[in-house]
Amino acid sequence: MLDFDQAQTLLANAAAPLQRTEHVDLANASGRVLATHLDATVDIPPADNSAMDGYALRLADWSPEARLPIQQRCYAGDVPEPLKPGQAIRLFTGSVIPAGADVVVMQEDTTEADNHVQISREPRPGQHIRRRGEDTMAGAALLPAGTLLQAAHVALLASQGMATVPVYGQLRVGILTTGDELVLPGQPRATEQIYNSNGPMLAAMVRGMSALPVHVLHARDTEADLLAAFKTLLADCDLVLSVGGVSVGERDLVKPALAALGGELSLWKVRMKPGKPVALAQIDGKPVVSLPGNPVSAYAVFATLVTPLMRRMQGREEIFPPVSQLPLRTAQPRQDGREEFLRVQCRVADEGGSELVPYGHQGSGVISSLPWSTGLARLPADVLVQDRDTVSYYDLRHWLA
Ligand code: AMP
Ligand code: MG
Repeated sequence: MLDFDQAQTLLANAAAPLQRTEHVDLANASGRVLATHLDATVDIPPADNSAMDGYALRLADWSPEARLPIQQRCYAGDVPEPLKPGQAIRLFTGSVIPAGADVVVMQEDTTEADNHVQISREPRPGQHIRRRGEDTMAGAALLPAGTLLQAAHVALLASQGMATVPVYGQLRVGILTTGDELVLPGQPRATEQIYNSNGPMLAAMVRGMSALPVHVLHARDTEADLLAAFKTLLADCDLVLSVGGVSVGERDLVKPALAALGGELSLWKVRMKPGKPVALAQIDGKPVVSLPGNPVSAYAVFATLVTPLMRRMQGREEIFPPVSQLPLRTAQPRQDGREEFLRVQCRVADEGGSELVPYGHQGSGVISSLPWSTGLARLPADVLVQDRDTVSYYDLRHWLA
């Protein structure tokens, strides 16, 4: 038996980052991982500009009685004239500041008549001017390699005028479900059969990680079927995930199939609940991770043990998302010989702050607990956990992204 932390570290190091890189259009960059460090090449803003609709003038020309002639109306995108002494230039948010002007006054503090402006309130030196480079200076570090690009990063790169971005190739993942009792959704089903939920679930989770679920295959519980499916997936994918058939039942043939493919097997039982049977094999230099078949176990093991490996392979900078410490609400004290991952909802407590409320039925087959939960609470093994004790919280918004 391995404990959870050991298993997580072992799995996270089970493969190196992908070496493939490509350039994508900025429009397709979100969800991709930046392959090189980027520095800013231009100052943003590129010139001093106005933060307000108003007037540019010299502070020295201001007095409450002064009526300054309006020299020019300069719209955003226009080129301003140099400001003549004793005059003002009408401008708008984003208009370039005329040479010679040192303040912008907002139009709400002015009266304009007969092409003259009078300003009621004394300006502060430099007010309402956005300085060249105050956002980003050319040469400054922009983003590190390994950044998962999202809308915010796309905005930053667009502001630099970048039309394409160097990114790592997308992680190609093959999914294999196993079991004679399973039927695909949409097919007729007998009472002794159940719908295959792990296949669609894992494909969705892989997609949620910005990776590609290239194939979702199903194998019956025979070694021949498993072998054929594994071969197809290994030929086409960077990472293979199988689910089910990895316990000690008579029809649990994943382990012999992986051994027959020359896989070096490691990592059998992980001391976690739900989850226990998890296997890692290396075949042709590719990791194959075998997850437990129970849907909740597969979900929890994917979230906590597989996603760090995927992030590593994607070249991402952050492999382990944050884990926070929060009070757990529980009607009766809990204790178990394995570390337990409860499906919980993180809620605002009556006293303020956050608390974790467990789902009522924690069985490893209870799929209805999954959409209800916002995350997993990790309870230590062999410790009596009481109401309001602090536990580790794995927020799935972070752990499944
Ligand atoms: P196994 O690890 O193959 O013994 O499966 C454990 C439990 O999970 C059994 O009740 C299976 O029916 C169920 N199970 C396995 N694979 C799936 C799947 N793809 N979808 C839904 N349930 C599954
Ligand atoms: Mg099975």
